[in-house]
Amino acid sequence: MSAQQAFVIIGAGLAGAKAAEALRDQEIDGRITLIGDETSRPYERPPLSKDYLQGKVERNTIFVHQPGWYAGHDVDLRLGTTVHAIDRDRHEVVLDGGERVRYDKLLIATGASPRRLPLPGANAEQVHYLRHVEDCDRLREVLRTVSRIAIIGAGWIGLEVASAARAADVAVTVVEVASLPLLRVLGPQIAPMFADLHRGHDVDLRLGVGVEEITSAGGAVTGLRLADGTAVEADAVLVGVGATPNTQLAADAGLEVTDGIVVDASLRTSDPDIFAAGDVARAYHPLLGRHIRVEHWANALNQPATAAVAMLGQDARFDALPYFYTDQYDLGMEYTGYTETDGYDQVVVRGDLQRREFIAFWLRERRVLAGMNVNIWDVTDTIQALIRARTPVDTTRLADPTVPLADLAPAP
Ligand SMILES: Cc1cc2nc3c(=O)[nH]c(=O)nc-3n(C[C@H](O)[C@H](O)[C@H](O)COP(=O)(O)OP(=O)(O)OC[C@H]3O[C@@H](n4cnc5c(N)ncnc54)[C@H](O)[C@@H]3O)c2cc1C
Repeated sequence: MSAQQAFVIIGAGLAGAKAAEALRDQEIDGRITLIGDETSRPYERPPLSKDYLQGKVERNTIFVHQPGWYAGHDVDLRLGTTVHAIDRDRHEVVLDGGERVRYDKLLIATGASPRRLPLPGANAEQVHYLRHVEDCDRLREVLRTVSRIAIIGAGWIGLEVASAARAADVAVTVVEVASLPLLRVLGPQIAPMFADLHRGHDVDLRLGVGVEEITSAGGAVTGLRLADGTAVEADAVLVGVGATPNTQLAADAGLEVTDGIVVDASLRTSDPDIFAAGDVARAYHPLLGRHIRVEHWANALNQPATAAVAMLGQDARFDALPYFYTDQYDLGMEYTGYTETDGYDQVVVRGDLQRREFIAFWLRERRVLAGMNVNIWDVTDTIQALIRARTPVDTTRLADPTVPLADLAPAP
């Protein structure tokens, strides 16, 4: 690739920052412009519902790079700047005020935004969402000052905030329309563990019921009115009902979008000069044989290296297995692999579900599709080897903790 190619990255989150780093690692001579609408330099979001929310770590620990890194690596970091349009014909992006920046290769890493709840009362000041560090700072203050919080949605973020709130001695009610927390991801065999975990920490779980209204009096939130006619009293509300990918720019530019920007295994969109990575990308996964969109830290961390290589015109494909983790109270867990709700026919538990020290495996026709280790560590590589092998396993031995897991996985 010739000198002074222009690489533009839209979105200065984890994926954007890692893409700038990966492009520089390729020792290209080109210009790299990283454009983000937030005012903070790129940071990681997982601490926003965990240690940073709980005040256990300082703000300076959440950033992807040191302050001088961008200038030091000749990356033009333009914060507080929104990209309004992609002009594919002219190979330019259009910024606030109409300024245009030319690109030879463009990466879209615009991430996702919290899904809003169009409920009566949802615009009250004490109704919170959690995506940006400023949201987290506000929520920290809420947890310091209120005595009761209602959380709508028992997904990862809702449950992690519940855990942080209990640590701050705030009374917590979690309302979830499904019959169990995390039911869609974990299924009926494993999801009850999370219900028990939170009930064991005095969280009032209201399951199988929707929210009709966020109630207020005198301008202050008083709680929730639920679909079954009951009420929840609360001084503040956190809404954690999932996120939607920020695809508007791509759609307006005529790129293929289906719940995410559709990209191939090299993270290239339907336009050969435009790529997408992170939460916003729906990428073809060679091992799974289908497109998936993954809203996890590890995906945003690792996809950019593949995108950078592909942007330089070399062969690349992203085939890492999805991976994520959570920390709630004294429970730490990692999950790797992929299955749809109806994609598995068996769940095998190895270890002690009651004591929350186990590995769960989701299988189809005795082939491992996904695994989750709870309070057991250093097994992700072995679980991934089992998944990648795609051969039937002996499920009795898989369930037996005395059989080394590595004995079940093929040699690397
Ligand atoms: C509170 C919280 C906790 C999480 N915890 C975990 C966890 O424990 N484990 C895990 O695996 N994952 C976790 N995640 C998910 C993980 O943080 C995301 O997968 C990751 O942040 C995705 O990175 P990204 O760079 O693709 O997108 P983002 O981090 O969303 O960054 C995209 C950036 O682009 C900006 N942008 C969007 N549109 C434009 C535009 N038009 N112009 C300029 N800029 C734009 C956005 O404002 C944002 O700054 C958590 C997420 C949250 C919110």
